[in-house]
Amino acid sequence: MITITKVLENVYVLKDRTDCCANLVLGKERALLFDTGSGIDDMKRAVRNITKLPLIVIDSHGHFDHIVGNDQFDEVYLSEMDFPIIEAYDTELLNRWMKDLTEETIQPFSMPPREWKCIRRLDFDSFELGDLRCEIIPLRGHTAGSIGIWIPPLRLLLSGDALTPIMCLNFQNHLSKQIQYETLNRVQSMNFDFYLTSHQDKLYPKQLLRTAAGWSNGFQRLYV
Ligand SMILES: [Zn+2]
Repeated sequence: MITITKVLENVYVLKDRTDCCANLVLGKERALLFDTGSGIDDMKRAVRNITKLPLIVIDSHGHFDHIVGNDQFDEVYLSEMDFPIIEAYDTELLNRWMKDLTEETIQPFSMPPREWKCIRRLDFDSFELGDLRCEIIPLRGHTAGSIGIWIPPLRLLLSGDALTPIMCLNFQNHLSKQIQYETLNRVQSMNFDFYLTSHQDKLYPKQLLRTAAGWSNGFQRLYV
C-alpha cells in the first residue's frame, strides 16, 4: 500500500511499504515522478489515481530502494554515472534486501535491473511540465550520479537521498566526505525555500542545510 501526502499544491509524496518515497509534481501539461520506490507496491497505479497527465520519470540515483519500481514504467531516466550500480544488482540480492525491509510476503523479483528495457540515460539538464520549469542539479556525494530537481517557480528542491543526513555516507557507492560537503555548501547558494528527501514525507526548510554544513561530524542529529 502506498501512502500519499500532499505537501504543496500539485506536489505529492508517495511512500511505499518500505518507507521509500517518490515525489510527484504536476504541471499544466506533464507530471514528474522522481524515483519509483522499492518496487514492492504498484507505484504506477498510485500515480494514475492522482493524475492522467503524461509522465516523465527520473531516478534520483541508482540505489535499489529508489529504482526497483522502474519497470512499471515505459521510460525512466537515470544518470549514466549510476548505471554500474544497477548493473550489479541481481534478483537474489534484491529479494534478500526486500526481505530485510519488510515482514510481509511479497512477489519475488524475477528480472534483474540490467535486463529492463525502460532505462534511459539522463542526457538533458532541464525540462518543462507546463508553467513549471525544472532543472537537473548534480548532487554528487551520496552516489556519483545523484541528482536533484530544482523547481524555481515552487522554490523547491527535490533531493533524493543526497541531502538525507542519516544515510548520506553509509551506503555503498558513496563518494568522499569532502565531496558531500561541497555539495551541501553549493546548494545553499541556490534559490529555494524547501527541499524534499526520499525517506520523509514532509518538507524541510533550506535553513536546515546551513546548520548542517557547519557540522564537522555529519548532521544526523538534526533529524528527529
Ligand atoms: Zn541512496
